[in-house]
Amino acid sequence: MNWKVPLADLDYDHHEEQAVLDVLRSRWLTMGEVSQKFEAAFAEQTRCKHAIAVSNATQALHLACLAVGVRPGDEVIVPSLTFVATANAVLYCGADVRFADVLSNDELTIDPLSIKSLITPKTKAIIVMHYAGFPCQMEPILELAQEHHLPIIEDAAHAPGASLNQIPLGAWGDIGCFSFFSNKNLSTGEGGMLTCSNDSLAEKIHLQRSHGMTSLTYDRHKGHAFSYDVVELGYNYRIDEIHSSLGLQQLAKLEHNNQRRREITYKYWHAFADTPLGLPFSKTMQGEPSFHIFPVLLPEKVQREAFMVNLRNAGIQSSIHYRPIHTFSYYREKYGDMNLPVTDAVARREVTLPLFPTMTDEQINAVIETVKSLVE
Ligand SMILES: *Cc1c(COP(=O)(O)O)cnc(C)c1O
Repeated sequence: MNWKVPLADLDYDHHEEQAVLDVLRSRWLTMGEVSQKFEAAFAEQTRCKHAIAVSNATQALHLACLAVGVRPGDEVIVPSLTFVATANAVLYCGADVRFADVLSNDELTIDPLSIKSLITPKTKAIIVMHYAGFPCQMEPILELAQEHHLPIIEDAAHAPGASLNQIPLGAWGDIGCFSFFSNKNLSTGEGGMLTCSNDSLAEKIHLQRSHGMTSLTYDRHKGHAFSYDVVELGYNYRIDEIHSSLGLQQLAKLEHNNQRRREITYKYWHAFADTPLGLPFSKTMQGEPSFHIFPVLLPEKVQREAFMVNLRNAGIQSSIHYRPIHTFSYYREKYGDMNLPVTDAVARREVTLPLFPTMTDEQINAVIETVKSLVE
C-alpha cells in the first residue's frame, strides 16, 4: 500500500549509506571497532558506565532478566500495555509474569500502586516500560524497589534520548533495554542495547551475549588472546558492524529528530484540544520525553475499526499500541482471564496516528483534518 501518510518513516540519507559502505570496505563485519564506538557513544548519551549492543531489544530484555537472576519459580512484575517481548523475556527464563495496570487514561505507564499490590516473596524484579517515550513515575517505583530489594529493568524501547529530572531513561533502573527496530526513534533495522552502571551486571551481560565465552574473536584477532573457556550457558546475541554503523549515524540525529517529534506532538495536541479525543500525556507530561508514537483515545461512540478503515481510505496509516498482553491466547491459556480495569478500558479505545521526524506540514495537516472530520 502506498500511504499518503505512513505511520512511521526512516530518516536515512547519504550518511547512513556512506557508513555502511565504509564497513563493507573495511572487511571486518562483526564485533569490531564500529560496535565499540557505538556502545561508547550510547553509554555517554545515557550517562551509564556500560552500554552493550545486541541484535534486538528482545535479546536485551532476556539478558537483563538473566543478569538480575530471574530463574524458574520467580515472578517478575510487568505492565500488560506493552509489546509482547517485555513479558516473553521473563518466560524465557522459566519465570512467571504478574501483570500490573497502568495509571489512567492520561498516563499510560505502569501504576506504582498496582506494582505494590503484586509484590510477593517470589517477586524477583520489576520491568517498567516508558510508553511512547514518556517517563514512568520512576521516583515512587524506585522507592518501592529499594524497600523490597528488587532490581528494576527499564524497557526503554520507545525512549532513546528521553530523560526525567535530567537523568536519562535507561539510567534510572538497574538495566535499561533499547530497541533499534526499523520504526523506533533510532533505527538500524534490527538492533538493541543494554545500559547499566554496575560492573558485575555488565560482566554477566557480556558473557551471556557471546556463548558464555571468556574471550572474543576480536581480542584473538588483535592478538590479545589465543584461547577461551566457556563458563556459563550463553547465547549469540551480538550486533554486527553494519548495524552499529547505522546506529552511530542515527544517534547523531537523535536529539534533532526527537525535537521534531515534540513539535509535531504539540501541533497535534493543540489541533485536537477541542475535539472529543482523549490525548494521553498531554496534561501529565514530565521530564523530556522522546515522543516515539502519538496515541489518542477515541470517544466511546466512535467505532475503532471503522475509524481506522476511514483513515486508510484517506491514505493515512494508523495502528494500535497495544492489545494488552494478558488478552493474547497464549497468555490467557497460561494464566487465565484477568481483569486490569484501566488497561482494558484504555486499550479498547486507543489508536496511534502517524508521527515521524521527516513528516511534512502537508502530511500533518492531512492527518489533523481527516481525524477531526471523523470524530466531530
Ligand atoms: C519494539 C519493542 C520491543 C522489542 O524490540 P525488538 O528490538 O524488536 O526486539 C520491546 N518492547 C517494546 C516496548 C517495544 O516497543
